[in-house]
Amino acid sequence: MTGAATVLILGGTTEARDLAGLLDVRDDVRPITSLAGRVAGTPALPGEIRVGGFGGAEHLAAWMTTNDVRAVVDATHPFAERISQGTADACAATGTPLVALRRPGWTPGPGDDWHDADDLADAAARVEGLGRRVLLATGRQGVAAFAEVTDAWFLIRSIEPPEGRVPPHHEVLLARGPYALDDERRLLADHAIDLVVTKDSGGDATRAKLDAARERGIPVLMVRRPPVPTGTTIDVVGTAADAVAAVGVALGGRSAGSAAGSTG
Ligand code: NAP
Repeated sequence: MTGAATVLILGGTTEARDLAGLLDVRDDVRPITSLAGRVAGTPALPGEIRVGGFGGAEHLAAWMTTNDVRAVVDATHPFAERISQGTADACAATGTPLVALRRPGWTPGPGDDWHDADDLADAAARVEGLGRRVLLATGRQGVAAFAEVTDAWFLIRSIEPPEGRVPPHHEVLLARGPYALDDERRLLADHAIDLVVTKDSGGDATRAKLDAARERGIPVLMVRRPPVPTGTTIDVVGTAADAVAAVGVALGGRSAGSAAGSTG
């Protein structure tokens, strides 16, 4: 193998951005980050960027072959199920090594009153028993699942306006993290929130709402993560640095054992 090995990063997360930065400084790797293009504007990222869906796993596999992709890192959000499964299928079809970069999920501590939901529909069914004034922080695509909940008021917080159906009683707050604890305390108090509904996204950028909920003594309804897809052998890691090492192994040792951030 001569020249830099092309590594495809399925992105849209902070960890994907970090990984692109760590790989871009190496001269033996050519990182290309793929973004869905859902959020307005293309963010500045290290390395190359491509934007938009591939048109399914078969087309992704063809794109990988055309672009001589040697390894793939699925660094999408833990709840981006379709692209993760499509990536696993494309890697299985092409025999390409796949690393899944998943930031660790959140875990409750002393004083937390967390209730697990299997998915968004399960969460919607549980709202009634837990609260009446809800901070709904499940992302705009998750809002429709709560459309039938008529006996609660929702403060819907999302980066872009919700798509599709919405619950009858609601207000939309357009905002993008990271969120500070003081701001979250104020938000919960100003809107008399008595229940926080969120996905188990993990990470620091959006966890302050959980701390504010604990301080306020209100419950959190936590939508648990879907499983990592099946269909091919996936090396699951939790940090961008660990993904660099896993990519090195996947590329046959050419980067293996190198420290993250090394210039190779
Ligand atoms: P999804 O439901 O799993 O994917 C839907 C379709 O969007 C995929 O089948 C694929 O289209 C396309 N797609 C998704 N991510 C892509 C990527 N990185 N590059 C190229 N195409 C992509 O995904 P989602 O939940 O809408 O998430 C979309 C993006 O937002 C992801 O990059 C994810 O990391 C990011 N994100 C998601 C969440 C969340 O809560 N779901 C939160 C923060 C960020 P084709 O089948 O046509 O290839």
